[in-house]
Amino acid sequence: MVLLMDDFSKLLLTFFDAVAMLMALILVLSILHRSDRRGLMHSVQLGAVFSLAALVTMSDPIDMGAGGIYDMRGLLIGTGMALLGPVVGLMTAVTALIFRLSIGPPGLESGIALIVGACAGGLVWRLGIKPKGFAQWKKSIILGLMISLQSVGIFFAPPHLWYGVLTQLIPYMVVSNVIGALVISHFLSGELSFLSAAEALRRDANTDQLTGLLNRRGLQMAYSQLSFPTAPDQGRALLYFDIDHFKSVNDSYGHRIGDDVLKHIISEISDVLRYQDIFARIGGDEFVVILNQIPRSKAEDIAERCRRVVSVSEIVIDGRVLDLSISVGAIWAERASSIDELIDQADAALYKVKQSSRNNVEFQLLRPSVVAEDSQVAA
Ligand code: GH3
Ligand code: MG
Repeated sequence: MVLLMDDFSKLLLTFFDAVAMLMALILVLSILHRSDRRGLMHSVQLGAVFSLAALVTMSDPIDMGAGGIYDMRGLLIGTGMALLGPVVGLMTAVTALIFRLSIGPPGLESGIALIVGACAGGLVWRLGIKPKGFAQWKKSIILGLMISLQSVGIFFAPPHLWYGVLTQLIPYMVVSNVIGALVISHFLSGELSFLSAAEALRRDANTDQLTGLLNRRGLQMAYSQLSFPTAPDQGRALLYFDIDHFKSVNDSYGHRIGDDVLKHIISEISDVLRYQDIFARIGGDEFVVILNQIPRSKAEDIAERCRRVVSVSEIVIDGRVLDLSISVGAIWAERASSIDELIDQADAALYKVKQSSRNNVEFQLLRPSVVAEDSQVAA
């Protein structure tokens, strides 16, 4: 009876320990997720949180008797790998590994095998089970079971301990892994679907629906994130272009064909641009390209290539090849300037092309702003 009570209190202790740790983790993960960062840096942050949690749990394990101690490292490594990706999983596994190595024997081999087993279980789940179409709770139960691959550690323990570990430690391990995987994936999937909805909203607000390019708001946001080139001869260019006589395409062939022509022109121009260039639609047939970190001659060259690629492109409608062209107003700036200032001056350059010829590029250097002129006079 005493033994049973002992077992029961150990089980409760294990469970509350796990739940408290999971809740704290989920809270930190939610905060990190809602911060605006994405990509590798975000994964590294999540990995640091999981690693820290692994250190906490490993420094205060629960003694299960029968030669076994229990902590949540396997659950953290496995769920990190499975639900948040290899960066998080590997960071947690390596941290746990270093910590376990620093403790040394006895049970070192078992401890290492446990870490590798949980990592492998999480990875196999991510590659094989995650893409499958069945219910989330079923996937989570499988995840808990797969993390329990950590039980391979038993084979590295002395054989006389196997029976005790198998009957006392491993059942706790499997149950808490399954419960842990259910809790973590329930909260994380809620959090991730909230984030992907928020992400989709943000993307829609910054994107032009027809073309998929940035809209004016997206352009302003992207521009505000650019840093001004500091290397000699490097500057920033803004190309402002408008399709020539586009209204007549709509009038002759209808709006839907007009839309296709618009997309065709965008695709031709995209092929000329560098991957880091910003391309936005800011009006009906008006577009802006920002070329950052670029010498003047290269910007001039790209502006001309954009014009040429449209004028030589062939689009056949009703058996007729359409004559397409764009007019480009381009400004190259050697000093930091607001996007409105660049657009205003590029618009004036574009107007000049439209007045004189069309299918041409007017390339100018940024004129000093009125504020700068005033300050020069004052100096
Ligand atoms: P210009 O050479 O002076 O630029 O002549 P234009 O006919 O292109 O005149 P303007 O740029 O002023 O007119 C733009 C036209 O683009 C008006 C409208 O019919 C058309 N347009 C604007 N947005 C869309 C769109 O989303 N789809 C289609 N098909 N046409 C559009
Ligand atoms: Mg036009």
